[in-house]
Amino acid sequence: MKGRITLTMIKPHAIEDGNLGNILAKIQMAGFKISALKMLRLRLNQAQEFYKIHEGRDFYKPLTEFMSNGPIVAAILEKDNAVEDFRKLIGATDPSTAQEGTIRKLFGLNTRENAVHGSDSDENARIEADFFFSLLERY
Ligand code: ADP
Ligand code: MG
Repeated sequence: MKGRITLTMIKPHAIEDGNLGNILAKIQMAGFKISALKMLRLRLNQAQEFYKIHEGRDFYKPLTEFMSNGPIVAAILEKDNAVEDFRKLIGATDPSTAQEGTIRKLFGLNTRENAVHGSDSDENARIEADFFFSLLERY
C-alpha cells in the first residue's frame, strides 16, 4: 500500500522571498492536509545529517550551507499517494525544466534554490518526518 505522508521543507530563499504563504496555499489547494508544521533554522551539522545520502556529491557542501543559512519551514503532508503526488506538484529539481504551474517553476530560482524539498520514497518520508517531528507534534 502506498504511504499517506510526505515531508516537505520550504527552503530559506523562499521564506526570504516572502513566498511561504503562496507555497502553503498551493499545497493545500492540491489537497494535502498539513498534519505537522514548524519554522526553524537548521544547524550546519543538522543539514548535513538530513542530506547525508548526498554526501560526496559536488553540490553537498553548498547545499548544506544554503539550507542552514536561514529559517526553513518543515511540514508533514498527508494525502493518498502523498510522495508521488507531491513530487508532481513541486516539479523537477531544476526549476528551469520544471513543468508550468509547479511550485519549483513558480518559486524556484535555480537548481539549488528550488523553493521546496519533497521526500523521494515512503521510507524516506518516514525517516524525514521523524527527523523533524515527535509524535506529540503530529495531528
Ligand atoms: P530533489 O530535491 O529534487 O529530490 P536531489 O535529492 O537530487 O533533488 O537533491 C537534493 C537537493 O540538492 C536539491 O533539491 C537541490 O537543492 C540540490 N541539488 C541537487 N542537484 C544539484 C545540482 N546539480 N546543483 C546544485 N544543487 C543541486
Ligand atoms: Mg531528493
